[in-house]
Amino acid sequence: MSKKTTHKFKAEVSQLLEILVHSLYTNKEIFLRELVSNASDALEKYRFHTNSADNGDDSIPLEIRISVDPEAKTLTITDTGVGMTRDELMNNIGTIAHSGTAELTRLAQEGQESLDSLIGRFGVGFYSVYMVADEVELTTRSWQEDAVPMVWTSDGRTNYKLEQAPEDTPRGTSIKVMLKEDLASQFTNEAHLKSVIKRHSNFINFPIHVGDERVNTVSALWREPKFQIKAEQYAEFYKFLTFDTEDPLETMHISVDAPVQFNALMFIPSRSTENFLMNRDNWGLDLYVRRVLIERQNKHLVPEYLSFVKGVVDTEDLPLNISRETLQDNVLMRKISSTLVKQILSHLQKMAGDDAERYAEFWREHGNVFKAGYVDFLNKDKFAELVRFNSSTHEDDKGLCSLADYVGRVREGQKEIYYAYGPSRQALALNPHLEMFRRKGVEVLYLYEPIDEFVMDALGDYRELRLVAAEHADPANLEAFETLEPEKEKPEALSEDQRSSLDRMLARIRELLGESVTEVKVSGRLSDSPVCLSNPDGHVTSSMDKIMRTVHKDASIPQKVLEINPDHALIRNMLRIFERDENDAFVEQAARQLFESALLLEGYLSDPHALVGRVQDLLTKSSGWYADK
Ligand code: ADP
Ligand code: MG
Repeated sequence: MSKKTTHKFKAEVSQLLEILVHSLYTNKEIFLRELVSNASDALEKYRFHTNSADNGDDSIPLEIRISVDPEAKTLTITDTGVGMTRDELMNNIGTIAHSGTAELTRLAQEGQESLDSLIGRFGVGFYSVYMVADEVELTTRSWQEDAVPMVWTSDGRTNYKLEQAPEDTPRGTSIKVMLKEDLASQFTNEAHLKSVIKRHSNFINFPIHVGDERVNTVSALWREPKFQIKAEQYAEFYKFLTFDTEDPLETMHISVDAPVQFNALMFIPSRSTENFLMNRDNWGLDLYVRRVLIERQNKHLVPEYLSFVKGVVDTEDLPLNISRETLQDNVLMRKISSTLVKQILSHLQKMAGDDAERYAEFWREHGNVFKAGYVDFLNKDKFAELVRFNSSTHEDDKGLCSLADYVGRVREGQKEIYYAYGPSRQALALNPHLEMFRRKGVEVLYLYEPIDEFVMDALGDYRELRLVAAEHADPANLEAFETLEPEKEKPEALSEDQRSSLDRMLARIRELLGESVTEVKVSGRLSDSPVCLSNPDGHVTSSMDKIMRTVHKDASIPQKVLEINPDHALIRNMLRIFERDENDAFVEQAARQLFESALLLEGYLSDPHALVGRVQDLLTKSSGWYADK
């Protein structure tokens, strides 16, 4: 055995140690994460060397063991990795290699930021052990032939001692931690250690034993080659990750090398787990750096509209000591994120193409979250291919329609894609604005959710066809199409005289309704209904208008255009009465009734009393006439 030598730490190490030894930082358990991560790195390096040089010693299993001695107040963590030579020990443990720790020391000395937050922000590597240790004894033997095994000891103050270790020291590194008095019971408690390991190091790809038990049960599946993984393994991992009991709907396993290296294993659950009212923060991907968990549910890896995606991302390119704060505006993170978004959207696109039924399933569960992607202008084209709607061409709401489906069915010469918002299919079927579309057999997309209109607004157009709200469609654009429904028997055309009476009647109605309407005019879009309301030019759709009124707490009724169908029997009757007596009370009563019914259909009528009173009055009169007949 050689004699013991004493060495001074480099200045920056001493400074860092000074800080750590006196740290009051409460989250001291991170020292385990750091030591386990170093052990895992050492095992990884050993595997790499032996794979490439094929000269390893297979007799020693690649693993990490943690043992405790409560009486002696020690914790020992042992790995069978590469180990260190004497020179490596001095270079790796005696100096600080990376700038992160030096930066921490500098900031701590400036004293601007609290120590707690600094230690949280910077991983502090091997030295973090001095948050919990009075003394550390590290015994190591390098995997290299003829390497001399060494013991390194230090109380983490100014110097460390080196000494040759017994010749029978096995390959790898063993770190014996003499725990501080007040922390000894906590860190010699195996159950506590297991929970810490599960929390921070569950996916370390080598077995970690605490006492006799293997703690990390789930391997880092995302790092394994795809072709070796069975569907059941993916499902098992998914359930472990999400606590879901069902298998995932989709699994996405990707490995990317450029522009940034990362592996990702992501899933789309079969059922929506979103419950934004209850738990708005329950989303995000778990971020690992070299199998070490950095942050659970990181929210910078995918945007909120993809929040239904669950999974993990693991990169080699970020430093292990990256802090959560710096993750936010990290360039690498942004690159990973934009690659992930593209991959997820392509996956969905492929799924939609390969299996429409499966995609419909996805849409029913997650469509409402996904729709918020209308804000992602960078991926607008992909998004446009992925949104789905209900449609007037379907019998019921089970079928879904893409914009591409719509375009495949447009009438010759049709330059616009039409949509209408309503509370249900039944309501839209009665919507007077859609009569013209039904008559001409022009498809209308049915929107049931307020967000759908924002989607349409943001998209603006699709493959050169403009997206137009049906209520804003110019009847002239549809007039050119052949009428599909058998033409209704039209009443005789109005004579010259009747036309001028009609003009006067419209003027009279306008006078009666006063400021409630901007205009009363003959409609080009109606066939079944006597009247409808439309928006003055350049106005938003009525549903959008309603959303804005809700936002602005505006309860007033907007001014609209009252459009009248001169071929409807009721209007013809009114005209006949009007021709007899231009001031007849019935014309006024009917005009008000028609106007308020139209308001009711549009959802604007807040006080139904007048309308109900009028209906009862009219029923009384007509029943009297009917009974006498
Ligand atoms: P980092 O892991 O970020 O390099 P650390 O302070 O955690 O920083 O470790 C410093 C260095 O010490 C490592 O890079 C490695 O070379 C060496 N080292 C630490 N622990 C071990 C170990 N268990 N086996 C072999 N080498 C180790
Ligand atoms: Mg480390």
